[in-house]
Amino acid sequence: MTSNADWRVRSLAHVWQPCTQMQDHASGELPLIPIARADGVWLEDFEGKRYLDAVSSWWTNLWGHRHPAIVAALKHQLDTLDHVIFAGFTHEPAIALAEQLAAKSGLPRCFYTDNGSSAVEAALKMSFHFWLNSGKPQKQRFIALQNSYHGETLGALAVGGPSIYRDTYAPLLLQPIFVPSPDCYTRTPGQSWEDHSRRQFDHLRLVLEQHAHEVCALILEPLVQCAGGMRMYHPLYLTLARQACDEFGVHLIADEIAVGFGRTGSFFACEQAPPAVYGRGAKRGITPDFMCLSKGLTGGTLPLAAVMTREEIYQAFYADYAAYKAFLHSHSYTGNPLACRAGLASLSLFEETNALSANAVLAQLLWAHTAELRTHRHVAEVRQTGLILAVEMVRNVAKREDFPASERRGLRAYRHALEKGVVLRPLGNVLYLMPPYAIGAKEAQKMCEVLCEAVDVATRDPA
Ligand code: PMP
Repeated sequence: MTSNADWRVRSLAHVWQPCTQMQDHASGELPLIPIARADGVWLEDFEGKRYLDAVSSWWTNLWGHRHPAIVAALKHQLDTLDHVIFAGFTHEPAIALAEQLAAKSGLPRCFYTDNGSSAVEAALKMSFHFWLNSGKPQKQRFIALQNSYHGETLGALAVGGPSIYRDTYAPLLLQPIFVPSPDCYTRTPGQSWEDHSRRQFDHLRLVLEQHAHEVCALILEPLVQCAGGMRMYHPLYLTLARQACDEFGVHLIADEIAVGFGRTGSFFACEQAPPAVYGRGAKRGITPDFMCLSKGLTGGTLPLAAVMTREEIYQAFYADYAAYKAFLHSHSYTGNPLACRAGLASLSLFEETNALSANAVLAQLLWAHTAELRTHRHVAEVRQTGLILAVEMVRNVAKREDFPASERRGLRAYRHALEKGVVLRPLGNVLYLMPPYAIGAKEAQKMCEVLCEAVDVATRDPA
């Protein structure tokens, strides 16, 4: 058997890891973990040590690793059709998946890409191009929320807020109009989530009043700004944003890449928006103009993404060839049959496992098992939306004084959790749980215990 150390040496010689200061690994400060196999919620290295995947492998995995139904569907698909150019050709998995996504989202047109960032790029381009095709070429800008994250390619990066990802590349980026986030961590003491998010909406409204004539779309992550530290807000903001976008003639792009597919308690996070006016027939939920999907789309097995959109938007591109209105955007692996098949198998599991109800029970369990953190002297907030639970570690709770980033408290927590066999990859000083839905009650308890210990270890002085 080859040891972890052997794989580390080979990996470090050639592989450049994502979102990583490679010196951390090369110096041994943070040993790279070679994974040999995975089963359910567990990852296993080459020496038999197991790690509970509490972050669902970057929020992609819904049903545990190698779920038998997805594996069987993929094996069958491999025996039938592996890949085919998607321009000029179509196939059953892509058709069936588009039909199901259309039914679930209420958006009938599905454009496939192959990762989350490329879905965001496609949605931004489509929105701009829609207005161009509709005789409004002056609409060229985007509105984005501060602290939002939409991916790493230049367009997606431009509409993301956190400076840690953005600032280095600032000279290369589009200049969106950023509005304050509805993030409820920043509410004043005693203020309700609803009131805070409603007030934050006033900033958006003002910007729309001033800039709608030059704006294509507002892009946001519904309910949870994930990479921005799992910051959460009230669903009323979605209702108000939808109304205002309609009023001012601006598209709404909902980036459900991280929060879609049951993660927040509903199938899509947008479904939680309360009715604008309560009363008979009042319906919960908003329909965006574009919805970006990826991550959980395949249950966490293969890369795939989709932009869902409205018929009217599709029709603005539909014309004689000579009108040059077509959306000339493509990726080589667009609509890959294996990935689409995994998507179909994953969607079936929602029905078969009654996932949304089961997730509600699991969400309560996570809340109960993390009770001690709510009175911890270095925890400013424990917040939860569905199966995302986040812990904000601070130096001083009363003053909301952050630990300096240079102390790398999160890294301490990460290391401790790894020792205990749990993957808790923090976002700065925010630790979070975002487990596969398939996690059992015992595993969930262990995960929460290790989280609580990790907070203790990380916040203990000296740094
Ligand atoms: N949007 C959101 C909300 C995300 O969380 C992410 C990934 N973390 C992306 C877009 C980008 O997706 P990808 O990493 O697949 O490019």
